[in-house]
Amino acid sequence: MRATRCDVLVVGGGAAGVAAALAAARAGAETRLVERYGFLGGMATAAMVGTVCGLYATGPSGPPRLLNEGIAGEVESRLRATGAEPLRRGRTIVLPYVPLAIAAILDDLVARETNLGLDLHTTCASAHGSAGRIDSVRLTGWRGTEDVSARVVVDASGDAIVAWHAALATETPEIAARQLASAVFVLQGVADGAVGGARSLAVLRALHEAERAGELPPGCRLASFRASGRAGEVVVKLALDEIEDTRPMDELARAEVVARRRVAALAEFLARRIAGFEHAFVSHTAPQIGVRESRRIVGIERLERADVLGARKRADGVARAAWPIELWQAGEGGARYEYGPDDDWYDVPRGCLVHATCANLLAAGRCVAASHEAMGSARVIGTCLAVGEAAGRLAAERAR
Ligand SMILES: Cc1cc2nc3c(=O)[nH]c(=O)nc-3n(C[C@H](O)[C@H](O)[C@H](O)COP(=O)(O)OP(=O)(O)OC[C@H]3O[C@@H](n4cnc5c(N)ncnc54)[C@H](O)[C@@H]3O)c2cc1C
Repeated sequence: MRATRCDVLVVGGGAAGVAAALAAARAGAETRLVERYGFLGGMATAAMVGTVCGLYATGPSGPPRLLNEGIAGEVESRLRATGAEPLRRGRTIVLPYVPLAIAAILDDLVARETNLGLDLHTTCASAHGSAGRIDSVRLTGWRGTEDVSARVVVDASGDAIVAWHAALATETPEIAARQLASAVFVLQGVADGAVGGARSLAVLRALHEAERAGELPPGCRLASFRASGRAGEVVVKLALDEIEDTRPMDELARAEVVARRRVAALAEFLARRIAGFEHAFVSHTAPQIGVRESRRIVGIERLERADVLGARKRADGVARAAWPIELWQAGEGGARYEYGPDDDWYDVPRGCLVHATCANLLAAGRCVAASHEAMGSARVIGTCLAVGEAAGRLAAERAR
């Protein structure tokens, strides 16, 4: 087996992991970024999320105001250069994007860094050490298996997979309390004006009725529709509640199987019963279902709901965040939002990124220490980019 060394190893090439790797490399650390898929972006590409939230301040009016410069700002300006335009949605402003565009931007940013090595199709299979230190991380890829000893490891896996493999303290809400996952898929051949405003409401009403009548499987009513702006294309997001499959599989596998069944049933129903969808077909589904919440590290600090809603500032703040607490819970039929004050922000403190016992493990993005509610805000892509950058800078500092 190969054994290698580096200063900073970042596990997970989502928004947080890419930002962490760029920041560590730019700070002079010999850095490696490993990602299990063949592309970067994490949920932003693998789940085809479609809008970057958390880049801008919230408030009832006014132009978009960036909360964080740095890598979040770089990604924002590069997306805008591809034609993406900020879009106001009530008190928030989002930046819509095409998954391929963000993947290409992340590829380019990574390729420019000479201190940064990228391994795609490479999975963190285990991690070894003690409660106080990770000695090595085992990677598997097409070349075989490799043990990497890193001075600092950044867990940006979305699922705190490094911490879990190393048997370090983590926190995972019970499945019933966790945010729902969603499946995203794309329809082509939809007539102009078939979705949007009152039309979408009429389609949703038809889905409710069909589900009640047993014409659609449970859960198919939990769809939302967004015209992408390209001729005939509509993006559908289906929240995965009421998972009826009880076979002994892991939760993610079960949700993937159920999602595929529902996507097929929904697409067939729309084409058969809804005006404007007669010629619609599923061109592609996201490579994986979108996971809003899973495992987080136990940190030396924990971000709390009161921090978000009270716009709490910290002496050790490393990133600004202002997205509302957005929760998609079982049985609620949609998202629930709780807002902090307008034109303000809360600080994500450094302590949420630092593992409680393990000196050389940092977390970024969805893995940072936060309560269920606080993570409902801090998980958005804009915040993950800013927090990831902070984790990378801290990792480089600690690796010296
Ligand atoms: C359905 C849905 C809709 C959403 N809508 C929005 C939205 O509109 N706007 C917004 O800003 N946010 C949205 N979010 C939230 C946001 O997309 C994610 O929380 C955010 O992208 C998380 O970024 P991350 O880098 O922390 O984690 P992830 O994006 O999950 O990245 C983790 C990466 O680690 C990799 N990985 C995992 N395990 C391993 C391993 N063992 N070895 C190697 N690599 C590994 C994964 O493949 C992945 O690429 C949504 C989320 C979902 C699920």
